[in-house]
Amino acid sequence: MEILDILIIGAGPIGLNCALEAQKNNLSHLIIEKGTIVNSLYNYPLYMRFFSTAEKLEIDEIPFISTAPKPGRQEALEYYQGIARQKKLNIHLYEKVVNVSKNNGIFEIKTTRSAYRAQNVVIATGFYDIPNLMNIPGEDLPKVKHYYTEPYPYAKQKIVVVGSSNSAVDAALETYRKGAEVTMIVRHSGISKSVKYWVKPDIENRIAEGSIQAYFNAEMIEIKEKTVVFKDEHGEFHEISNDFVLAMTGYLPDFDFLRKSGIELNGDCLNPFYNTETMETNIPNLYLAGVVCGGKDTHLWFIENSRIHADMIICSILSKL
Ligand code: FAD
Repeated sequence: MEILDILIIGAGPIGLNCALEAQKNNLSHLIIEKGTIVNSLYNYPLYMRFFSTAEKLEIDEIPFISTAPKPGRQEALEYYQGIARQKKLNIHLYEKVVNVSKNNGIFEIKTTRSAYRAQNVVIATGFYDIPNLMNIPGEDLPKVKHYYTEPYPYAKQKIVVVGSSNSAVDAALETYRKGAEVTMIVRHSGISKSVKYWVKPDIENRIAEGSIQAYFNAEMIEIKEKTVVFKDEHGEFHEISNDFVLAMTGYLPDFDFLRKSGIELNGDCLNPFYNTETMETNIPNLYLAGVVCGGKDTHLWFIENSRIHADMIICSILSKL
């Protein structure tokens, strides 16, 4: 079996960037991706707009031309998938990595379809596959969605949106504008500071005028077939009628996979251990790249600031040759 110079797990923007950097430096590479190319972006809300401008989302200095100041999902799909195609990156799709182990200095990578060997492995698996659950009764009902795609299914429906970050705010505003009756249940005392600066006044004004109901310092207690129960900031319980719950409570990296691969996880946020200059983990030649590096703190890394990981990793690999 061929021994690859570098096997990359995940064809997100940062996994692709690692492959481009490997290709430029004549290192043999393979990306294994469990979905399509930039699978997380493919699963984003259909009409989302990035908070970053196009040039901040560029990889390998390849121009990202957008017709708007902030690109949308479809433009990003065209950009990243176009790069993978034009640069003829070596990618296996719809194949999931299930195990990474090391034997006599060589990594053995088992997938749902095959097995591979590599000198170096980069884990660039992101955080968008595992919802951060509320762990309350009724969360598994079909009316509860942890991913929001578009507003149209929710016209004339009673919606509860849980959370106050960008995803929650976008879902609340879009569904409200398509005729949904929206109630936001927010754990914190206000709309998150990280909400896009051009969207924040919109949601705050809709709440102030009463078009969207919002309960701050509130807690979801239970979801039933036709109602939800929550506790408000005074500790009072409310049961309101409800058709759908959009639980925009965030997502988590696959900690079991990281643990199984031998990576140390530290502190409350389960921060994976890596060398901040090389991105190498506690397992020699096993690297981390992209937003997976933040552990539970999924706001730490994004495309803008983790694009540099590819260069750091390939420099480290080259320095050992
Ligand atoms: P991902 O893009 O998540 O890629 C990881 C890939 O790994 C996925 O394709 C996944 O299918 C694959 N994978 C996972 N496990 C396995 C496995 N075991 N085997 C094989 N494949 C696997 N960042 C910005 O800089 N600017 C923005 O404006 C911005 N807007 C955002 C808007 C939303 C709605 C969200 C959710 C995030 C946004 N981010 C933004 C953050 C950042 O863009 C994304 O998190 C980005 O996708 C991170 O890239 P990544 O390559 O690290 O991970």
